[in-house]
Amino acid sequence: MTASRDVLVVGGGPAGLSAAARLAAAGLGVTLVDEQPELGGQYYRRPSPAVLREHGDHRPEGGRLIAHVRSLGVDCLTGHLVWGVDDDGRTLLATGPDGTPVRLRARHVIVATGAYERTHPFPGWQLPGVTTPGFAQHLAAADGTPPGRRVLVAGSGPFLLPVACSLLAAGADVVGVAEAGHPYRPSLRAAPALRHPARLRELAGYVARLARARVPLWQGRVVNGAAGGDRVTSVTLAATVDPGRPLRTLDVDALCVGYGFRPQTELARLLGCEISADAVTGDAEPVTDAFGRTSRPGVYVVGEAAGVGGVHRARVRGAMAAAHILLREGSPAAPGPREIARLAAQGRALTRFTAMSDALYPSPARLQEVLAATLDDDTIVCRCEAVTAAAVRSAAAERAGGDLNAAKSWSRAGMGPCQGRFCGFAVAGLVRDAAEAPPAGGARCGVPVFPARQPVRPVPVETLLALGEQDGGDG
Ligand SMILES: Cc1cc2nc3c(=O)[nH]c(=O)nc-3n(C[C@H](O)[C@H](O)[C@H](O)COP(=O)(O)OP(=O)(O)OC[C@H]3O[C@@H](n4cnc5c(N)ncnc54)[C@H](O)[C@@H]3O)c2cc1C
Repeated sequence: MTASRDVLVVGGGPAGLSAAARLAAAGLGVTLVDEQPELGGQYYRRPSPAVLREHGDHRPEGGRLIAHVRSLGVDCLTGHLVWGVDDDGRTLLATGPDGTPVRLRARHVIVATGAYERTHPFPGWQLPGVTTPGFAQHLAAADGTPPGRRVLVAGSGPFLLPVACSLLAAGADVVGVAEAGHPYRPSLRAAPALRHPARLRELAGYVARLARARVPLWQGRVVNGAAGGDRVTSVTLAATVDPGRPLRTLDVDALCVGYGFRPQTELARLLGCEISADAVTGDAEPVTDAFGRTSRPGVYVVGEAAGVGGVHRARVRGAMAAAHILLREGSPAAPGPREIARLAAQGRALTRFTAMSDALYPSPARLQEVLAATLDDDTIVCRCEAVTAAAVRSAAAERAGGDLNAAKSWSRAGMGPCQGRFCGFAVAGLVRDAAEAPPAGGARCGVPVFPARQPVRPVPVETLLALGEQDGGDG
C-alpha cells in the first residue's frame, strides 16, 4: 500500500499532534503515523479504561487535542512503525500492526519522534525490577501499577520528582529519590527560576507531596550497583563525585533510574538531515531553524527529536513547522507576521527556560565522563550483545582509536536489536575515555552517535518480503 498526502507527520506526541491539528484545520491532507496503538506520545499517553474510571484523566488537555485531531479528518495510522527510507531518499517505509508494509509519501515530512531515556550501566542493571523512570511512570499513570512495592527513584533531571509522586499515587512505597546533582538547594544559578512562578509552584507541589510521604530526597548521589537473584533486592548508592565508592545500601524490589532524555534522531538522519552535537548535552541533534526546517528541503524535525525541552516547547515547535508549511503552500489560513512573531517569542522564552533548568542539573556530558571512568570492567554495557565495559575499552584503545563506529564493529556493542538506544550514551563515554589518540589516518567521531541503520527497529521478515513483492506494481 502507498499513502500519499500533503503532509506526513511521524510521531503522535504533543509536537506531532500540534502540527497535525494546525495543518488539517487549514484544509491540508495530513497523515499522522505512530507506532503506539494510541496517540499521545510520552506526555499525553492515554490511561487505561480502568484507571480512567477510578482516577479520571490526569492530562485531559491531551485527550482533547487527540479528539480535535481526529475530528479534523487527519488520517491517523496508529500501530504503524516507520522503520526506514526508500531508495528515493524521501518515501518512508512503515509496517502496520499486522506486518503489512506501507510506503508513505508527502510533499512535506515532519519528524516528531520524541526522545529516548538516557541510561547508564552499572553492575546489576540488567536485573528484573530495574527500569527507567519513564517506563515506571507509564506503568503507574497509564495502568495504575507501580513497578514494585519498595521503589528507589534515581538518576538526574526534573522529571524524577513527578515520577516519584506518580509511584506514590499508584500505591508504591518510595524509599527515596537519589538525584546526581544539587538542583534543590538555594543558589544564585536558581535565581532566574523566580521568573517562572507556575513552574516553581509545580516543583513545590512535588516536593511537598514527597515530604508528606516522608520520602527522602538525596542530592549528589548516583547508583553504584544493584544486587538480587530473580529480581533486584538491593541498591547501593555512591556520591556523584566518587561513584566507585559505595556509601549506603537500600532494600528495594524495584529501581527506576535514568538521566534525562536524548533526541531520537534515526529517521532524521536516514532522511539525510545534517546533525551536530549539542554544546551543553553533547547529544546528537538535527540542525534546525526556528521553524524546524532541516538541511533537507521539505523535511522538518520538531519536539524532543530536535532537542529536549519539555511538552510546551514541543507543542510550540510543532506549531511553528505547521506555520511554515502553510506559508509555503500559500494557504489562506497561513498565520500572519504577528502570529508568527508570537509563536517565535514563546519558543525563545521556553528555550531560555530549558537552558536555565539544564544549568541546575549536572551536564549529561560531564556525568557521562564521571560514570564511564569509574565503570567496572566486568559490567555488561551492551545488554543485547552481552558486551562488557572491558571489551569496549580494549576495542576503543587498541583498534578503534576515538572512532565510535569502529569501536562498535570491533566490540559488537550497539549491534543488537536496540541498536545502541540503551547503551549508546555509555559506549560513547567509554570510547572517548579509552581512546588516547584518533585512529591512524582517521578522525575522532565528531558527533557521538552510532550511524542510523534501517530498519530502525526490528520488523518482521514478512514485511520485507512483501515490500519486495510490491515493488513491481507499486513502486
Ligand atoms: C516520565 C516523564 C515525565 C515527564 N514529565 C514532564 C513534565 O512534567 N513536564 C514537561 O514539560 N515534560 C515532561 N516530560 C517530557 C514530555 O513527555 C516531552 O517533552 C513530550 O512528550 C515531547 O513531545 P514529542 O511530541 O516531541 O515526543 P513524544 O511525546 O515522545 O512523542 C513521540 C511519538 O513518536 C512516536 N514514534 C517514535 N518513533 C517512531 C517511529 N519510528 N515510527 C512511528 N512512531 C514513532 C512515539 O511512539 C511517540 O508517540 C516527561 C517525560 C517523561 C517520560
